[in-house]
Amino acid sequence: MTTALTDAELLAKLVAFDSTSHKSNVPIATYIAQYLETGGIEIVRNFNAEQSKVNIIARVVGTEKNIVSQGLILSGHLDVVPATENEWESDPFELHETSDAYIGRGACDMKGFVALAINTARQAAHQRLCYPLVLMLTFDEELGLLGAQHLANTWPEPFPLPKSAIVGEPTSLRVVRAHKGCMYINIHVTGQSAHSAQPHLGANAIIPAARIVTELDILRRRWATQPIELGELFPETPYLTLDVARIQGGSANNIIPGYCQITVGLRSLPEQDRDALIAEIESAMRRGQAKTPNIDCKLEVIANSPPLLVSADSVICQTMCDLMSQKSAAGVSYATDAAILQTMGIDPIIWGPGSIDVAHKPNEFMPKNEFAQARRILDMAVERFCTQ
Ligand SMILES: [Zn+2]
Repeated sequence: MTTALTDAELLAKLVAFDSTSHKSNVPIATYIAQYLETGGIEIVRNFNAEQSKVNIIARVVGTEKNIVSQGLILSGHLDVVPATENEWESDPFELHETSDAYIGRGACDMKGFVALAINTARQAAHQRLCYPLVLMLTFDEELGLLGAQHLANTWPEPFPLPKSAIVGEPTSLRVVRAHKGCMYINIHVTGQSAHSAQPHLGANAIIPAARIVTELDILRRRWATQPIELGELFPETPYLTLDVARIQGGSANNIIPGYCQITVGLRSLPEQDRDALIAEIESAMRRGQAKTPNIDCKLEVIANSPPLLVSADSVICQTMCDLMSQKSAAGVSYATDAAILQTMGIDPIIWGPGSIDVAHKPNEFMPKNEFAQARRILDMAVERFCTQ
């Protein structure tokens, strides 16, 4: 059995693994599994088809094994975004400590919470729990919730999961019960390329693409002024947001461009009909295409992650608001694994130390006071969910 590390020592170990999403997460997952392999913890390794990525599910078993309405899941992702920015003032994969913060890639998003969750579980294994405490550590969240989706597709494995979950993304310790969905759509505009000296032999794809972009912008402005149910959960952007994120077309100065691609991003609110939204994008595409013969337009949804909405009356929401003395749970605009957990019949709230404002940026940091407070709250949450 490995010796116990302090929360900060464990965070330093986790940060030292370069678990950028495009790399395998097996090394960091193996380390965590070994660290957790102590009496009283069961570990399930949930591999992807290529065996290059793995979700770690660890359970501290309670005496009341089969009561899953009780118990608690602590969930986090093991991957981090790349740390290639020049502005890093220290090695991103070596935890750097100042008087009030820990700095490193993932310190905030979200190895800080993962370290706390692991040590909470290790400690709980020495207590006598009534109901299970489950760690759910996923791969490739940053690539579009891939690990959580793989888990949802392949579970149930050996045991049922508790109903309540905390997904520890950085919220500055605010309890969050809703987030928007995230969709990416490619629009392929295909014409006919030709020598630019013979334009009559070609069909320029960029011109209709530009008209489509204009139609999409009209749609964006209309949506931005339309009040939507549950908008109050997202005070900064209480509406459906659309952006034309990328456009790419043409290959040379003397060629009539035969192809142009537009990529659109869409952040939908909970309970919006996402198929209807896709249909509206398609109509905008057709209006833009309308006056151009010999042009073919196709729409392709390349990512479609669901929104999250957990009931304010759920046990997890009530308990965490109570522990944080927070009146009511909030909403955030970024997507998380929580939305996938909800499709598995789990009630997940989002709550974790650190600010989303520093995530995915150079010199990402975890405030020491929030880190310590989060650990105390986690211990209290385990007591509420797993021991009574
Ligand atoms: Zn994250």
